[in-house]
Amino acid sequence: MTNRRQFMMASLAAAIVAAAGPALAEGKGVVGLAMPNKSSTRWISDGESMAKEFTNLGYDVDLQFAEDDIPTQLSQIENMLTKGAKVLVIASIDGTTLTDVLQKAHDAGAKVVAYDRLIRGSANVDFYTTFDNFKVGVLQANSLVKGLKERFGSVKPWNVELFGGSPDDNNAFFFYDGAMSVIQPLIDSGDIVIPSGQMGMDKVGTLRWDGAVAQSRMDNLLSANYTDKKVHGVLAPYDGLSRGIISSLKGVGYAPGAEMPIVTGQDAEVASVKAMLAGEQYSTVFKDTRDLAKVTSAMVDAVMQGKEPEINDTKTYDNGVKVVPSNLLVPYDVGKDDIQKLLVDSGYIKAEDLQ
Ligand code: BGC
Repeated sequence: MTNRRQFMMASLAAAIVAAAGPALAEGKGVVGLAMPNKSSTRWISDGESMAKEFTNLGYDVDLQFAEDDIPTQLSQIENMLTKGAKVLVIASIDGTTLTDVLQKAHDAGAKVVAYDRLIRGSANVDFYTTFDNFKVGVLQANSLVKGLKERFGSVKPWNVELFGGSPDDNNAFFFYDGAMSVIQPLIDSGDIVIPSGQMGMDKVGTLRWDGAVAQSRMDNLLSANYTDKKVHGVLAPYDGLSRGIISSLKGVGYAPGAEMPIVTGQDAEVASVKAMLAGEQYSTVFKDTRDLAKVTSAMVDAVMQGKEPEINDTKTYDNGVKVVPSNLLVPYDVGKDDIQKLLVDSGYIKAEDLQ
């Protein structure tokens, strides 16, 4: 063969491969990724990581964010089905509102994965991928107690207030129950008091995980209960709430230093990691969304090929209709000293974003 002919054959082969690429990708079908909002950075990175993983596996991805609006999320999921999605990966806004659309998904033969948040009240949820949510609460409370000992070791009892997540999110109850498994014994022993008396998810829940709601509740707690005493700690289940609570505390004069209350968090959001470096927030919980994306895409790919997906829990997550087979990942407590190793060295947060 002449060089020229060799070159032409090679180009032709390359063109065939290039043409086969997208055709192959289409062959694996559409995956719909329904995320709750873009206002919390974790869901953006969940969405982006999953889009990357599924694309690499050869799927077409339809990624949508619903700005915490239930009808928007419902119509996004309907659209995914109209586009022929064979798989839906859903981080729900309200875990009880999807029954009808999931029936349609089932009728169309689509698989459904509840992503991070359990979808309740439907038989048509095939799998659940998340973190050990009870443990998240345990980590938050352990870190609260560690901080109370460190900063307020000589003061007893400790004055603590409790915040819960959104009551329409099943996770919020797991976080709260996990935290109370540590805090309740300390209330019983008299080491911790809750001056407002507000306990239980019906009293401490924060609808839609809204930081502004947490801030105004904290304002009210402070003015009603703390005119003659100091608050030492606040259990906050999510960084967005922590920042609202910290704004409220700063508003009445608390500042980084010996009297700053211990405030916990979750998600390792950049704004909160900065607040930790500034001595405002005490801790957060890191859940590596890149790993959750990997586990979820591998699970879907296995199912689509008729293989058994990896499941490590078949007991914990009863959605009211069935126990959903789950894969739970490990959450990590992050204090100021863990930021570099867990968040920066792992590439989850860029050092320059913390400047
Ligand atoms: C997630 C948390 C997050 C919260 C608010 C929960 O369902 O598990 O990671 O902090 O929602 O977005």
